[in-house]
Amino acid sequence: MKVFRWGSRALDMFPEDNALHKTYNFEGKVIIIGAGASGLAAAKILQQNNVDYLVLEASNRYGGRLKENKTLADFPIDLGAEWIHHLPAVLNRLKGKPGDLVDEETVPYDAFYNIDKDFGYSSYGKIFSWLKMRLLFSYRFKFFPEFKFKNSSWFNFIDKNFAEEVKDKIEFNSPVTQIDYSKDKVDVVTKSGQVYKADKVLVTASIGILKSEYINFIPDLSKEKQDAIESITFMPGFKLVMKFSEKFYSDIIMCKAKTGEKGYYDMAFKKDSKSHILGLLVQGSGVEDFYCLESEEQIVLKALEELDKIYEGKASKAYTGEYVFEDWGRHEFTLGTWIESFQINQSIIQKLNEPLNGKVFFAGELYDLHHQLGVPGAIVSGYHSIDKLLTNL
Ligand SMILES: Cc1cc2nc3c(=O)[nH]c(=O)nc-3n(C[C@H](O)[C@H](O)[C@H](O)COP(=O)(O)OP(=O)(O)OC[C@H]3O[C@@H](n4cnc5c(N)ncnc54)[C@H](O)[C@@H]3O)c2cc1C
Repeated sequence: MKVFRWGSRALDMFPEDNALHKTYNFEGKVIIIGAGASGLAAAKILQQNNVDYLVLEASNRYGGRLKENKTLADFPIDLGAEWIHHLPAVLNRLKGKPGDLVDEETVPYDAFYNIDKDFGYSSYGKIFSWLKMRLLFSYRFKFFPEFKFKNSSWFNFIDKNFAEEVKDKIEFNSPVTQIDYSKDKVDVVTKSGQVYKADKVLVTASIGILKSEYINFIPDLSKEKQDAIESITFMPGFKLVMKFSEKFYSDIIMCKAKTGEKGYYDMAFKKDSKSHILGLLVQGSGVEDFYCLESEEQIVLKALEELDKIYEGKASKAYTGEYVFEDWGRHEFTLGTWIESFQINQSIIQKLNEPLNGKVFFAGELYDLHHQLGVPGAIVSGYHSIDKLLTNL
């Protein structure tokens, strides 16, 4: 059944005849909005085909929901996407390299031997729930194999393979607030009032940005398109990364969450690292307990409190005082975390992909029609939509 064929189970659905392997003769100017994985992948195609283009990026950096920290530990820490969600061979497909032998060192993420489940259980309940989790995780790995980079990161992957070639064409601190596609040329207006003219535009801003109506479309988006945008759930969330002097914790500590996910996990798992780095990843309803706090320091204290309850005070004792907090849910140019694509009806994804007057196209994690998930999905969608844009489809 198709529903079970996502991410690592969908390598054979990766489109082989993608834009990386084609040539285009396009006369005209293209503007890409957003320099995340999707926008950078699309830009690479324009660069390789000598198309006149520009990337307008709202923030002061490229990568979007990919970001790394290189100072907290002896390995680069992914503050956004972290798991490959795929078989390692996809890394070759994404950069157009033949074969399955990848340059990047990866590790299987089979952390199911050492899982704790969060508080609130009797001893019997705890053992039962621990067994259930172990079974679930081991089954999940067999069914849906998961990998991570060993001494690298998702950010590094797009930095080396995409951004390197196109970064000179990015205009940073240029949030787009209006797209007027009513005339022959498209007028793209940034917050500072600057107007850029283009023949075609590719929008890769997250669905959170589209839902917030940060970008004013002229004419308005159709009711069907607006309904499709509204129907997507884009949950808030954050990553808190803390450094400890010893590893007192399990590889994974699952926590209860009404919607989305909440879990602490050993970020150095299988990384040959001497650093003890514990991540807290929260998506959905679990943010409420943290968003009501006034400062990052209070958020760290709350996390330590939760860990102290499970590990009898060991967390506070071993905490080195160093942390990194990345709040994707409240970041003004992201406004959310990730999309569970397999929960979305394909007809809605098709609707969201429909261009406006053949001039304004859309790409990103949500728009992938090839079941690739997360970052691979964002990149594949970048290739797919830029192909449509350049070939007038
Ligand atoms: C905490 C977290 C954990 C995740 N974990 C994983 C994982 O383990 N594996 C995985 O595969 N995926 C994961 N994801 C999802 C993954 O990060 C995304 O699918 C992917 O990075 C999306 O890329 P994108 O290019 O579609 O969008 P984005 O990365 O959101 O890029 C959009 C870009 O557009 C810019 N922008 C927004 N509005 C405007 C505007 N008005 N004008 C100009 N520019 C604008 C933004 O600044 C941004 O740079 C995770 C995401 C989060 C937040």
